[in-house]
Amino acid sequence: MLELFYTSASESIFVFPREYLPAAMLVSLLSVWVLVGLFFYLNRYTRRPYFNIWTAAWLFYALWLTLSLNLHNDPETSLTLMFKQWCISAAAVFLLWGSASFLKIAAHQRLFGLFLGFLLVWSYVGAYHLNNPWQIQLPIFGLIGLASILTAVSYYRLRCGNPRYLGAGLLAFGFVCWGLYMAAYPFFKASNQLVSSGFFISAVLQLFIAVSMIVLVLEEARASHERVLLPLRQAEKLSALGRMISGVAHELNNPLAIINGYLELILRRRELHESIWPDLEKVARESDRAAKLVGQFLAFARKQQPSLQPVQLNTLIQQLAESQPILKRVTPLDLQLDLDPHLPLISGDPDQIHQVLANLVANAIQAMAHQPRPRLLLKSERLSSQVRVMVEDNGPGIAADIVPHIFEPFFTTKEVGSGAGLGLSIAHSTIADHQGQLFYEPAPGGGARLVMELPMQESWEPAGREGAPLTQPPSSAASAVHPARILVLDDEPDIAELLGVTLTLLGHQPTVCSDALAALALIDRQKFDLVLSDFRMPNLDGREFYEKVIQKKPGLARRIIFLTGDVMGTEPMTFFNSVSCLHLAKPFHLAQVEEAVTRILSQPQSIMPTASSGRTHLV
Ligand code: ADP
Repeated sequence: MLELFYTSASESIFVFPREYLPAAMLVSLLSVWVLVGLFFYLNRYTRRPYFNIWTAAWLFYALWLTLSLNLHNDPETSLTLMFKQWCISAAAVFLLWGSASFLKIAAHQRLFGLFLGFLLVWSYVGAYHLNNPWQIQLPIFGLIGLASILTAVSYYRLRCGNPRYLGAGLLAFGFVCWGLYMAAYPFFKASNQLVSSGFFISAVLQLFIAVSMIVLVLEEARASHERVLLPLRQAEKLSALGRMISGVAHELNNPLAIINGYLELILRRRELHESIWPDLEKVARESDRAAKLVGQFLAFARKQQPSLQPVQLNTLIQQLAESQPILKRVTPLDLQLDLDPHLPLISGDPDQIHQVLANLVANAIQAMAHQPRPRLLLKSERLSSQVRVMVEDNGPGIAADIVPHIFEPFFTTKEVGSGAGLGLSIAHSTIADHQGQLFYEPAPGGGARLVMELPMQESWEPAGREGAPLTQPPSSAASAVHPARILVLDDEPDIAELLGVTLTLLGHQPTVCSDALAALALIDRQKFDLVLSDFRMPNLDGREFYEKVIQKKPGLARRIIFLTGDVMGTEPMTFFNSVSCLHLAKPFHLAQVEEAVTRILSQPQSIMPTASSGRTHLV
């Protein structure tokens, strides 16, 4: 059979006579040195331990080739034979070791040391006690062939995990062919016709492996370059988008404030026929929804300060469980609500916290995509001074080495296009803005558990816009404060007028003005208890207006309530915090105006609201 193989092979054009053997071995040796150099360089470049181990494998193989090259004409001594056998065995062990390290197979180093020792003994036995060369060579070359095929499996797995790595596929192919050649080497050696061809073949395969390695490293470099650049590009895009959204939202805020305000006024006055009320309430609710949408755009565009009000987290969780579209798309979903019936209120921004919960739920649902029985638990409980909410799934959970990064902006393990890596980072900073914390812990029984802890609400309870029915008549709070002289300043005359009408309705005496310089002249001439002023105005902005008022009437400057459509702007926010001024976000609810005015008027003239009270802004 072998004879037949050798005879038919000898007729091929790829067969070289035995005289070519030194040249073939030299070419093979040179190509191995290319590999040694390449693996050595790659190890310095990428610092991956398995490259070191594979370099050692190629070094032992090169040593075997060198010994074979020098001695191919002389009769081999048993010692040389033993050493050669051991070199090829060592090359096999290092290939196996490198592949185990690559595949993250937990194998102790001592095991490989013991294996090397065993192979030394085997080489000794083979060289000194076995007379049949097949008995010595077949197991040893079979071993290196197997080790090479295992290396091919490593690269094949890399290729499967990253279909863009063509180099890994080429390497898998190269190592399979090289492994087959090594396993068949004893047969090549036994043939005068094939031994030289065998070495030429191995040289070609070794160069093929070297080139494939270069391809793979270039592909990896390109991928990591993209990983670095993509977030930068996304950040640039987001900031441009943010500027655009912020501009559009700002322009929408004034008309929305006017629509909302007049609708509320109409509903409060109850002058229209009762049958029209439900329709108007619908309009009011929709315009409220539009205002919230604008708020969400702004939250995306820039970090938004929370608009604090009493929030029952159980209600938010229930609303989310009933209405979140993503929950409806997963069937069958085992959705479990475990809500503490005595959960205290927290002081928070319901829209922002709703958004955080929605993000956590969306992540959980995505994580359970391949879970045959997806289970989502939403749990609330009371701690001593905090309220805790957990979102728990039975997906794969988060690997320990990933956990430290999940709250970093732009960190994502999802495919490009499936996640921008912003959800958890925004959620984390939102909860931090609420003086709370958001953290991860593995769920018992596998899966992920995101935990949110928020401080319980302090004792004060502002007139929240939620819970105050739109048709509610003017609150009696105003009557507790005597009628005040209020200067209203807004360059948008409709908003100024709306505020004037509202304040009149509340029993105050407003003076309405739409020019900042005219307002300053009025302050010179008349006595005012309070000023409601726009922040962005054409002649004088809010900061300049404040400085002028403080020169004229310092007491009154402390009683300015600013209105702004740009609550996310860092500049107005820094200013409000530095001077501890109350401010309201446009579009505002009349209840908020009422509350802010009442709060200022009920304070003695000398007391200023302080930033640390956490109540300086009602936005
Ligand atoms: P994105 O969802 O866009 O990737 P996130 O900031 O929301 O960004 O999440 C960051 C990473 O945290 C995700 O890519 C994912 O690896 C991990 N992660 C978040 N929630 C879960 C979860 N419930 N189960 C498993 N992994 C999660």
